[in-house]
Amino acid sequence: MKCNLAVIKGDGIGPEIVSEAMNVLDAVAKKYGHEISYKQILMGGASIDVHGIPLTSEALEIARKSDAVLMGSIGGNTSTSPWYQLPADKRPEAGLLSLRKELGLFANIRPAYLYEELKKACPLRDDIIGDGFDMVIMRELTGGLYFGERSTETIDGVRVAKDSLTYNENEIRRIAIKAFDIARKRKKHVISVDKANVLDSSRLWRQVVEEVAKDYSDVTYEHMLVDNCAMQLVNNPKQFDVILTENMFGDILSDEASMITGSIGMLSSASLAKGKFGLYEPSHGSAPDIAGQDIANPIATILSAAMMLRYSFDLDKEADDMEFAVKKVLAKGYRTVDIMSEGMTKVGTKEMGQKIIEELE
Ligand code: NAD
Repeated sequence: MKCNLAVIKGDGIGPEIVSEAMNVLDAVAKKYGHEISYKQILMGGASIDVHGIPLTSEALEIARKSDAVLMGSIGGNTSTSPWYQLPADKRPEAGLLSLRKELGLFANIRPAYLYEELKKACPLRDDIIGDGFDMVIMRELTGGLYFGERSTETIDGVRVAKDSLTYNENEIRRIAIKAFDIARKRKKHVISVDKANVLDSSRLWRQVVEEVAKDYSDVTYEHMLVDNCAMQLVNNPKQFDVILTENMFGDILSDEASMITGSIGMLSSASLAKGKFGLYEPSHGSAPDIAGQDIANPIATILSAAMMLRYSFDLDKEADDMEFAVKKVLAKGYRTVDIMSEGMTKVGTKEMGQKIIEELE
C-alpha cells in the first residue's frame, strides 16, 4: 500500500519524537512491503519563526492533499516564549485550531490503556485495576458548548454570561458511526455518555445513537449519565471499551481516563474527519522544558502512528505489531525518564525508538 503522509514535526520535543515515529513507520513499511512518503510542513511556533504566521495556506493545502497527518506537539513555554507576545490568532495554537477546522476533524479518539509493566504508575487500588484496562474515549470535537453562541452582558446592573449547547442530528450521527466502527475493531461495546435526565441535547444524542446502533447488530451498547461515568472510570475502569460522548464531557472524561493510566508520555490520540482522513498526535504538549535533550518519551507518538495505520489505512496487523513491539520493549525493562522506576534500564528518545524497531524486526 502507498501512504502519503503530511508530517508536522512541531515545536519543543516534537522533532525528536516524530523522527522516532517515522523511523518505526519505515521499519513497519519495510517489513510488510508498504511505501510511505512524507511531506514535511511547518505549523505552530516553527511556522511563526519562518513565515510569521502559525499555518500558511500552502502548508494547509499539503495537509489536505495527504492521506493522513502525523504530528508532534506545538507551542512553547507560555510564560517566556516570544510567540505568546503575539495576538491570540497569531500564536502557535491558532494554527492547530485552524488546521482542525479546515480539515473537518470532528472526532477525537484518546485511548487509555494500562500497561502491565506500568501498573505502579496507576493511582487506583490494585483490586480495582485487576488485570488492567483498555478503553478509548471518542469525543465530538467541533460542536456543543465550546462552539455555541455565547455572550456576556449587564442586565439591570447584574453581569450575566451565557453559553449555549447545540447539536444537530447529523453531527451526532457522524460521530456515533465512527464510534461503532471503531468498536467493531475492538471489544465491540459502546457506552454513550450524556446527561439525558436534564439536557435536551442529550436526549437527541440518545435517540440518534439508538438509530445508528440498529446498523451494528454485532456491537452492544448502553447509555450512561456523565456523572456516573466520572465515578465508574475510577471505580470500575475495566467495563469500558469505547466511550462515545459530546465535546465538553469528552474533554473532562478523557483527561480523567489519561490520569488513571499514570503516564502522559504514553498516550496517543487521533482526530478523524469524514472517510478515512485523520490527524495523529500524542496527547501531551511540546514539553519545552526537556526539548533537545534526547530524553523525551517517543512512545505516545509511535502509538499515534500505529493508530494512523489502523484507522486511516486499515492496516490492523501492522498496527498490532507496532503496539506489541512497544509492550515487549517495556517488558524488557527499558524506560525513558518519565516512566523510569527502580531496577529498570534508562534509555533516551533515540534509543527507545531503536529498541522498538529491533522488536519489530
Ligand atoms: P506538556 O505536556 O508539554 O508537559 C507537561 C509535563 O510533562 C512536562 O514536565 C513535560 O516535560 C512532561 N512531558 C510531556 N510529554 C513528555 C514526553 N513525551 N516525555 C517525557 N516527558 C513529557 O504540557 P505543558 O508544559 O502544559 O505545555 C507545553 C506547551 O505545549 C504549551 O505551549 C502548550 O500550549 C503546548 N501543548 C500543545 C498541545 C498540542 O500540540 N496538541 C497539547 C498540549 C499542550
